[in-house]
Amino acid sequence: MKKLPLENLTTTLDQKERQTTKYISQQKYNAQKRMLSALKKTSEALALATDAKLILEKIATALGKSLGAKYVNFWEFTPDKKGLFITAAYGMQRQYLVQSKKHPITLGTAWVGRAVATKKVWATSDVQTDPKLPSSWLPAVKKQAYHGVLCLPLMKKGEALGGMCIYYKQIHEFDYFEMALATITANQAATAMANAKLFSELLAEKNKTIATIQSLKDGLIIYDLGGKVMFFNHRAEEYLWLRAKDVIGKNFAEKDTEQNVYLKNFYNISKIVQTEYSSKEFTTDGPQKLVLEITQVPINDQYQKIGVMQILRDITKEKDLEIMKSGFVATASHQLRTPLSGTKWALDLLARGDAGELNEEQKSIVNKLLTSNQALINLVNDLLDISRIDEGKFGYEFVASDLIKLAQQLYEQTKNDAARKNLNYIFMPPDFKLPPLKLDPAKLAIAIRNLLDNAIKYTPDKGKVTIYFRLEEKTAALLVQDTGIGIPEKDRKFISVKFFRAPNAIKFQTEGSGLGLYIAKSIIEKHNAALDFETEEKIGSTFIIRFVLPEKK
Ligand code: ADP
Repeated sequence: MKKLPLENLTTTLDQKERQTTKYISQQKYNAQKRMLSALKKTSEALALATDAKLILEKIATALGKSLGAKYVNFWEFTPDKKGLFITAAYGMQRQYLVQSKKHPITLGTAWVGRAVATKKVWATSDVQTDPKLPSSWLPAVKKQAYHGVLCLPLMKKGEALGGMCIYYKQIHEFDYFEMALATITANQAATAMANAKLFSELLAEKNKTIATIQSLKDGLIIYDLGGKVMFFNHRAEEYLWLRAKDVIGKNFAEKDTEQNVYLKNFYNISKIVQTEYSSKEFTTDGPQKLVLEITQVPINDQYQKIGVMQILRDITKEKDLEIMKSGFVATASHQLRTPLSGTKWALDLLARGDAGELNEEQKSIVNKLLTSNQALINLVNDLLDISRIDEGKFGYEFVASDLIKLAQQLYEQTKNDAARKNLNYIFMPPDFKLPPLKLDPAKLAIAIRNLLDNAIKYTPDKGKVTIYFRLEEKTAALLVQDTGIGIPEKDRKFISVKFFRAPNAIKFQTEGSGLGLYIAKSIIEKHNAALDFETEEKIGSTFIIRFVLPEKK
């Protein structure tokens, strides 16, 4: 049998006594069995707990009991690393632990101090007669009444993290098996200590993150992939008048929330259909009216998406200001509408020759005036729509409707415009059945019409525009694909911002207000649908409206 390096073992038993039996006795066999079961117990402690002290206490108890030792203890470094004190023990009275914290053992002294300093095992079969024990310590050792002592360093990656000692009431000969067991246990304890340290560091990091998130000015809700709420910060509680403990771990069905306006707000927010990183507005119902801007962000681990986060920003004040501004625009637009209509009426009269025949030059001037006048009327109408939208006065009436039929009607209405540009203009009815959707057909027509007009407008002569449908997991999509000018990368984030027109669009088609998509987006979102696009410059664009499919009953 290969011996462990025991150069620091002092023994009082002579050579003859040590070699009395070649084969182990039944008694020894039983003892070894007990020790192995202790080893199993210590491994279990390691797997179950994360609190270092608790693990060490369990290990000490399992080891102490199986060895029949008087004490087993674990030693930790003092903060200055110059001393060691007892952190967990078996068999010892509490007062010894308190005492050792007050008066730590200096590194390099006593058996544990030597074991940790030299990173080796130190043992003595009888500490009371061992010359290495300073005489001044003898009374204390006698009082505690132990003889055999074994101390080991707790090693991890070549570094001593602390020490472990086993104390026997009697004079004790340490055999190979016991030494091996003690070494394995010490290694386990070292792993436990290292893991616990890592765990407590992680916990501290987690707490720091939570504290940061809790103190955010924005509301934050985290969902797992199944839609269950995992986190709900203080601001979200404040905005939605709900307590985190009432929503965390839950995944509400619509009927659970019908009786409670706050839960209903939360349910509607959680079900907002959103393209990731884009924002949507939501006005809360109930006594506290808030306008929240909701942004959805995916949460990924190293490999895959594991959840989603919604960030809630209170934009009520900004909204109020916008409403005031809209009020002004609305009044101005109203005032403009009357004279513009008057001018149109007069120009129509002139164009028809009702006020006398016009010569060719005059006719051409009047026609130009008519076109400009119409552009102004369109602009004023758009502005009026926008101010109504911003003020929330764009009254909606939702009825179960046939989306495909609506899209086809709009296709028919725009066919002539496409023909004028010699476009290959195609409507592809879907090859699947779409259930009726809750729509406001008149409002949605404005939005879809705008996408069709844009596709026609921004596609050069002889290009192709296709309207088609796609069934997705939880949504049905209406797609308008063109082979037009596309949207340059740098301009994409501004699309559907009020008045924004990309430079390539201005160059290609001088007329346009940059209001159409803003109006379309707002209408689409009121349908709990989402507007999205895919585009490549000079290749074409696809604008996509995604409608949530009704839940199957
Ligand atoms: P307008 O068409 O009056 O300029 P919109 O709000 O409808 O205003 O569109 C905003 C901008 O989005 C356009 O000016 C253009 O830059 C871009 N855009 C919209 N639809 C398309 C499209 N189908 N192809 C290329 N660019 C488009």
